[in-house]
Amino acid sequence: MGYVKVRNKKGTGRRVPPRGYRTWLEYWEKKKGQKAKGCMAYGCNGPADVGGHVIRSGRGGKEYILPICRVHNNMPEYEEYTVWEAHLVPVAH
Ligand SMILES: [Zn+2]
Repeated sequence: MGYVKVRNKKGTGRRVPPRGYRTWLEYWEKKKGQKAKGCMAYGCNGPADVGGHVIRSGRGGKEYILPICRVHNNMPEYEEYTVWEAHLVPVAH
């Protein structure tokens, strides 16, 4: 475990969370068993506005949920940012 680079996955804006979860943020919180206290992009002090869909840079298309602020959620998909790997919750398909 350590810090890893992620990018926003494009085309996920309308993705509905799995049954039993109202939002992707709730999905993350229930899987982790904890509240998201803030944006989990490294160095960001923003709030945890949404459960964002991200992929690890250079590691294929496996998709994860990460609590992030609106600024990070609106970053273009080619822009990388750093996160603590343990904060990534995989999306079950
Ligand atoms: Zn942020």
